[in-house]
Amino acid sequence: MSKILKLEKSKLDGLIQFLNKRYELFGPKEINGQIEFARINPGDELRLDFLNTVKSPKDIFFAQTQPILHYKDNSVKEPALKHKPVAIFALHPCDAQAMKVLDKVFTQGKYLDPYWDGRYRDSLIFSIGCNTPATTCFCNCTGLGPFSKAGADIFLTDIGDSLILEACSEKGIYFFKIAEDVAWKEPDDDDLKKAEQIKEAAQLLLSEKFQAQDIKSILEKSWDNPVWDEISNRCLSCGLCSYLCPTCHCFDIQDEKLPGTEQGVRIRIWDSCMFSLFTREASGHNPRPSIAARFRQRVMHKFNYLIDDFGVLGCVGCGRCVQRCPVNVDIREILKGFLNGKG
Ligand code: SF4
Ligand code: SF4
Repeated sequence: MSKILKLEKSKLDGLIQFLNKRYELFGPKEINGQIEFARINPGDELRLDFLNTVKSPKDIFFAQTQPILHYKDNSVKEPALKHKPVAIFALHPCDAQAMKVLDKVFTQGKYLDPYWDGRYRDSLIFSIGCNTPATTCFCNCTGLGPFSKAGADIFLTDIGDSLILEACSEKGIYFFKIAEDVAWKEPDDDDLKKAEQIKEAAQLLLSEKFQAQDIKSILEKSWDNPVWDEISNRCLSCGLCSYLCPTCHCFDIQDEKLPGTEQGVRIRIWDSCMFSLFTREASGHNPRPSIAARFRQRVMHKFNYLIDDFGVLGCVGCGRCVQRCPVNVDIREILKGFLNGKG
């Protein structure tokens, strides 16, 4: 079977049914007036006409609240890790790359994270090109682009009535082999030309031109830069940017005990380096006592430390933090400030 196939959107339900039998399938769907990645069942309406979801899809692999053990009196039980493999349909290229960043953090450091590894390792990722990127998108500044195939097993291009699907990994090629009953067609030259034109038009819509990796060496000399104080005059330290960010991965471990019993659960929950409690020690000392120190950590981690530790940028240019920050802190402006020598 060819590496590039076409599927008419009217036949999409056949693919969804096939995926649903074999995978825990997630995709973009409207929930309470908002598009989010959620479980997709046959008959559900998939929304391919969205820009970025408000929440990133990272919680499919990195649950916001993850039980890691249950205890009762003197016995301890760890939750089973077995599950159906996960498939995600129509992940945007920034989010697909973000999953790769998280995979490095959770599997290539000193410790292997079994919860992440158990879900991401066997997953099947269908990325979709962004035909009309948002004004807040800057994936082109982070080594990607609206049609980047990084992190995709199968890459989709929406050409109107049909999707063009390209297998980009061994898993993607294998999927085409096993899914032979889906109503695939061979794309003709016009289909492929249309896909190429859509890609070229999308790239032109991105207005930012800076290169985020160039900031690393500047940041290394910017520990005491007064810009951190200037930013902190605006930032509320609310942590929203970290919660929405597809690559942020700080977490806390807490025990929750059922009152009046010796029974409870130990959970891992998302945390944020923007919170003062994140680094406060039992003595009360806090090595990052100010918003300026915490904001510096956020930027340094994404654009400096993760490159040292894992060879990747910790930002994929999704623009969620730009879109949603309640006081309009714009990471692009901060990065450009450093590049223009103001930082
Ligand atoms: S969302 Fe904005 S205000 Fe909230 S912590 Fe992030 S930068 Fe600060
Ligand atoms: S820092 Fe902002 S733009 Fe970059 S990946 Fe996180 S949410 Fe997206």
